[in-house]
Formats: sequence, structure tokens, C-alpha cells
Amino acid sequence: MGTKTERHFNCIACGKCCFGWLPLTLKDALHHAGRFPLAIVWTPVPYGSRAFAVSARFGITLRLRNRKQIAVILVPTAYLPPSFSCPELTAEGQCRIHEQKPLRCRTMPFYPYREEQDQSEQLVLRKGWACDTSTSAPIVYRNKSIVDRTDFDHERQALLEQAPIMRLYAEYVLKYMPWIVDSLGTVMQQSGGTVITSLSSFVTAIRSLDAKSLATQQLSVFTEYATKTADIPALIEYQRQYTGWAKEMEYLAST
Ligand code: SF4
Ligand code: SF4
Repeated sequence: MGTKTERHFNCIACGKCCFGWLPLTLKDALHHAGRFPLAIVWTPVPYGSRAFAVSARFGITLRLRNRKQIAVILVPTAYLPPSFSCPELTAEGQCRIHEQKPLRCRTMPFYPYREEQDQSEQLVLRKGWACDTSTSAPIVYRNKSIVDRTDFDHERQALLEQAPIMRLYAEYVLKYMPWIVDSLGTVMQQSGGTVITSLSSFVTAIRSLDAKSLATQQLSVFTEYATKTADIPALIEYQRQYTGWAKEMEYLAST
């Protein structure tokens, strides 16, 4: 029998969580640049919250105009509308790239931007998801520790390794797009608010990337998604972003 200190989980591969934004490590984002429309998602985390320390470790800290300190995680993201499935999800709900799927998909349901002791929240069954959390499923979390830490540790290691690059990018944005501080202050008022910046700004800031190759891959992905979201009123903002980002990638691919 399971106890309150043990949590059970089994993925039955229903594919229900393979919709909408997919946070990626930088390495995975670059590796899958020919698949996913990419953007950088900035999520502010208030000082004093349980996720503040881990967010500061992987992201940045800054002061808002009102002098309040926040941490911000900057996450390369497969920027898909919530109603859109991952392009690698088959009609049968299977992952077409199982062997090379991103670390984020492997670590599910655990989330590296939360302390290990707070991961039980990730094991709460979400509406519409078919995960097996019954006592017949394997024990995956015990005494506030993840039982098999392999994927969680790999993802965290990747986030630690990329942290200096994400900080370099944050410095660039704070210098050339200082309005982002106001945007972060505004979204702090909203629960779960985020600010989005483009991959083109990332490629411009981080000179060590192969800009031409990335831009060529993303041009075709953004163009495809601009077409897919055209004439869907609820996705007009996504369509506007994909169209604008495709133009930016066209420019970067040609320089
Ligand atoms: S890569 Fe595979 S597991 Fe990950 S979201 Fe896409 S279909 Fe799902
Ligand atoms: S919703 Fe749960 S069961 Fe379905 S694919 Fe995602 S983790 Fe697996």
C-alpha cells in the first residue's frame, strides 16, 4: 500500500500533455529548430516564493521599477498555441521521435524549475490527462525525493550549463529593450503571466550560434505555422507573431 509520503505515477502515453507550449533546454531547442517554432518565454517569480531560489539559479534576478526584487526564468520554448498538438504527436497519441524526444518530455511529470521537495504538485492529475496515479502505478516520489532522478538530473544539468548564455541574452535584452522590465512588472500582477521575446533577438545577442542555419530552419517552421494559424480568429496574435518572426528569419538567413 502507498503511504502519504509516496506518490505513484505512470505515463500511459495518451498524448494529452503534448499540446501547447513545450519548454525546452537550449540544446534541445537548437537541435529541434527544424521542428518547433521557437521563442523565449520570460517568467517572473516573486521574491519569497518557494521557486525563487531555483529560478535565480537557472535564470536571473532583477529589481522592478518599484524596487521589488524578482527572479526570472528565460526558457527557450516550442511556441505552439494551446489547441495545437506537438508536430511529432501521431493521430494515435504516440511520440514520433520517442528516442530523441526533448529532455522536458523525458522528465515529465517532474519540473526542474521547482525544488525537488515541492515536486508533489506536479503529480496532481490534471483535467483531461490520463496519467495513472493510482497505487498500482510505480512509486516515483518518496519522502519528498524523486525515486529515479536520472532524467531530472540531466535536465537540471543542462539548465545549469546554459545559464551563462541565458544571462548573457538577458543582459542584451535589458540593455536594448529596457521596456521589458515594465512588461515583467505588469505580468507579475497576473498569476502565471509571461513575456515573450523572439528567437531573432536571441540569435543576434548570442554570436556563437550558427545564425544562418537556425534562421533557415526557423523560416520554414514559422512560415508553416503562419499558414496553419491563418483565418483562426482566436489565434490572430500567434499568426501575427509567426508572420513577423518569419520575416526576421528571412533577413537573418540572407545575411
Ligand atoms: S516530442 Fe513527443 S513527447 Fe514531446 S511533446 Fe512532442 S509528441 Fe509529446
Ligand atoms: S497526459 Fe500523462 S499519460 Fe498522457 S502522455 Fe502526458 S504524462 Fe503520459
